[in-house]
Amino acid sequence: MKLEKAYSEELNKNITAEEADYRYSIGDITSKYAFSCPDDSCTAPVTCANLDKPKAKRKRDPYYKIVGEHHPDCLIKKDINLSDKRPATSDSLYSGHDEYIDGAVRLNLNPPSAKRFGGEAIRLDKERMALVGLRQYVVEEGKRRIRPSKTLSSMIDAFLNHEDIAVQLPRAGTLPIKDLFVELDAQEISNFEDEYRIYYGKAWINKNDKGYVIRFVNTLKYGELETRPTFFVPQDMIEQTSYTKFRSSVLDKLTDKLPKNLFILSETGPYFKDRYINFWLEGLEYMDYRDLQPRPSKRHQSVRLQS
Ligand SMILES: [Zn+2]
Repeated sequence: MKLEKAYSEELNKNITAEEADYRYSIGDITSKYAFSCPDDSCTAPVTCANLDKPKAKRKRDPYYKIVGEHHPDCLIKKDINLSDKRPATSDSLYSGHDEYIDGAVRLNLNPPSAKRFGGEAIRLDKERMALVGLRQYVVEEGKRRIRPSKTLSSMIDAFLNHEDIAVQLPRAGTLPIKDLFVELDAQEISNFEDEYRIYYGKAWINKNDKGYVIRFVNTLKYGELETRPTFFVPQDMIEQTSYTKFRSSVLDKLTDKLPKNLFILSETGPYFKDRYINFWLEGLEYMDYRDLQPRPSKRHQSVRLQS
């Protein structure tokens, strides 16, 4: 759901992203991270994406993106939950703004169990398409089947295998797969693009009473601040999702004190709040991991040389 207004922490009032754009241009607002949920009872952080990007370089006007947990009583959260109760479709990230580009691969974030909604989604589509003629529907359906997409996991495999493919992002055209992946390495976060990217790096996974904390080994910077970014996997998210790849039992095994190579897909990148730099995990299908390759021991190497 689109967030019409957000609370500006610098102006102490709720404003639209258009107004934020103007107030940023005249210096009243100084950071795209200084926003939160407009609900009175809620302090969920909000990023005003593209706010700091020069107008000529924008692919999209500034917009608000919730990047944290809402308060349980938040009315905005309740609205979002209601509007989200629709069957998942294979293109839920993409909209009519995104024309199909030949040879480009899309990101597919459907949990595997969403397939069971497929029949229903197609039936509804069919009813809608009957209004404009079934023939068109058949053509559309045929096109849909050959459009290539990759799950986050197979996108990671393609990247690690150095495959040379173009990836189409929602509302942002295509880019080479190597540019979709950003290895965390002490970058200044305001230099990141406000477009989908897969951030990755060595990280530790720890459990607390509300879920799992993923802490990257490498740092990121925001102005004077340099810190290790984290993201949080809430226990609620694990219990409420139909995505079964990361059940608690699976995540528990990852808290074995050995760092993993963690990947997180993020629309607006890491955000700054209260002296921390965090990523917001939108769902379990937005993360994945790979075991780090153990380095061959010296002894092993010398055996290899002799053989
Ligand atoms: Zn809220």
